[in-house]
Amino acid sequence: MTRKRHEREEEGNGLRELGRVMPPSEFYQPAPCLDNQYEADSLLRGYLAWRVPAPMLRALHSELGRFGERVVTDIAALGRAAEAQPPRLVPYDAWGRRIDDIVVSDAWRELDRISAVEGLVAIAYERANGELSRVHQMAKLYLFHPSSSTYSCPLAMGDGAARFLEVHGDERTRNAFEHLTTRDPARFWTSGQWMTERTGGSDVSATSTIARPGESAGVASGAEPYRLFGTKWFTSATTSQMAIALARIDGAPAGGRGLSAFLVELRDATGALRGIRVNRLKDKLGTRALPTAELTLDGAPGTLVGGAGDGVRKIASMFNVTRVYNAVAAVAGMRRAIVLAQDYATKRTAFGKPLIEQPLHRETLADLDAVERGCFLLAFHAVELLGKEECGTATERDLGVLRLLTPVVKLYTAKHAVGVASEALEAFGGAGYIEDTGIPQLLRDAQVLPIWEGTTNVLSLDVLRAIERTDAWTAWRTDIELRLDAIDQPSLVGAVEQIRARIEALARSMQAARDASTLETNARRIAFAIAHVSASARLAEYALWSATHPAGAHDAAAAADSLTRWLASSS
Ligand SMILES: Cc1cc2nc3c(=O)[nH]c(=O)nc-3n(C[C@H](O)[C@H](O)[C@H](O)COP(=O)(O)OP(=O)(O)OC[C@H]3O[C@@H](n4cnc5c(N)ncnc54)[C@H](O)[C@@H]3O)c2cc1C
Repeated sequence: MTRKRHEREEEGNGLRELGRVMPPSEFYQPAPCLDNQYEADSLLRGYLAWRVPAPMLRALHSELGRFGERVVTDIAALGRAAEAQPPRLVPYDAWGRRIDDIVVSDAWRELDRISAVEGLVAIAYERANGELSRVHQMAKLYLFHPSSSTYSCPLAMGDGAARFLEVHGDERTRNAFEHLTTRDPARFWTSGQWMTERTGGSDVSATSTIARPGESAGVASGAEPYRLFGTKWFTSATTSQMAIALARIDGAPAGGRGLSAFLVELRDATGALRGIRVNRLKDKLGTRALPTAELTLDGAPGTLVGGAGDGVRKIASMFNVTRVYNAVAAVAGMRRAIVLAQDYATKRTAFGKPLIEQPLHRETLADLDAVERGCFLLAFHAVELLGKEECGTATERDLGVLRLLTPVVKLYTAKHAVGVASEALEAFGGAGYIEDTGIPQLLRDAQVLPIWEGTTNVLSLDVLRAIERTDAWTAWRTDIELRLDAIDQPSLVGAVEQIRARIEALARSMQAARDASTLETNARRIAFAIAHVSASARLAEYALWSATHPAGAHDAAAAADSLTRWLASSS
């Protein structure tokens, strides 16, 4: 909704109209509205001005300005329509033939088309802006996600698969890569990722899906020389054209090392599933427009990617992308919840004043805003490093920081996304709990973020592995200290000292845990502390930049305020 429409609506409502006091029975609460989500986002605009060179910024400004309007108009309407018409499974046709058709709404299909045309995945592979292409792409995803009814999920998995194929693929997988990264909606593919089985999603070592060479499975070998047999317990975006699946080649050793990664194209030229049965669709708390199915693989053809064995390690390139998507989706969801709550606070009156004039309510919203700002800058730090890695411009230190930050940003932003969504719901009072306001969806959809792509505990243990088995800790510490050294403004000296003290305290407590052999039980505390310190440093850098550059002046007060609030919290 544009500012003009929004203001007209406000004028027409409220308790006082045409000079008379309306009786309470004539009162109808004005709904919260959304302005252009690029223009209204001072942090996004400030961040881009900080990180992006002027010619790219000019191009982004016009592209994101246009897209920021779409996400509150046609894309938002499609998201609502997709949410209202969840996918359904049609197992048989009229004549009793098994078809396992997953029927999705027209809106969901249109979101796919828009994603292709807008280049939501393609931008990252066209690399028109070199190492900053990921920043460009993720800025668009950040605008898109909260309006898309989680269409960002098939995009994340398609993008992750593209990166996996870029790193480990060959001639046989080039066609799939091109489909995943095109802007042509008629050729655009998304992907699933099939890891989780009934025995586990965090621990996939007991995976029982078997890959048999085609001949032993009774099929002549060809371009897809394996046939997959097994059951996959969670498969999202099951209407995608392809998936990356984990399976054990017949006779391969037990455990995680014995698993390999396969590219599975789901359907033949007629649209029929190839050796796949859809057992049922999951009945989920949230992400309701997104189909998530249980599958039986009964000879699904697969192409081995990256050679036999060690598949879990090889698909790390996929997870690195999907975890960064998760972090960007988390901050995007937070931003949307806060923007709606802020707008509502200008329209809802209690105890004789709009909520926004109630000091405690305003303070509550300002604290949420600071959480989102810290998480945003943290997430986009990982985005920048991912872009550098993909373009081959990352230093050894950058790679170490990225190794540590990828699980850290995913787990930390996801956890805060749930907290912020919950608090934002409360800011609407009872209306926040009522489905047709659209507000409950914010919380339902946030709750999946800490679960998929690695739970909080599982990723905290991954952070420990990065610290104990690689140089990531040294890289991270050196990097952050160098960046703090560069913050020379007197008004920020206190903040910098505080951040340094927290780094020292973290290093000491890690050593104490190491000495006491309690690193594992402290893994979560360590991961959260790394996230908090990383975000603090980014907030301080941004506060310095916005205070000293005209392009940041519009956000300087908010940047300073959010740094103070952030440092007053400890997690
Ligand atoms: C909506 C939705 C969509 C999904 N889509 C997909 C998909 O497309 N493809 C796919 O492969 N999977 C998908 N998943 C599955 C998801 O990735 C898994 O649910 C997740 O990885 C957790 O695995 P699990 O369910 O087996 O839980 P478990 O592994 O059983 O974990 C249960 C709890 O134990 C904790 N835990 C586990 N191990 C440890 C440990 N060593 N130390 C401490 N704590 C531990 C976890 O943190 C968690 O809190 C989806 C899940 C959801 C909810």
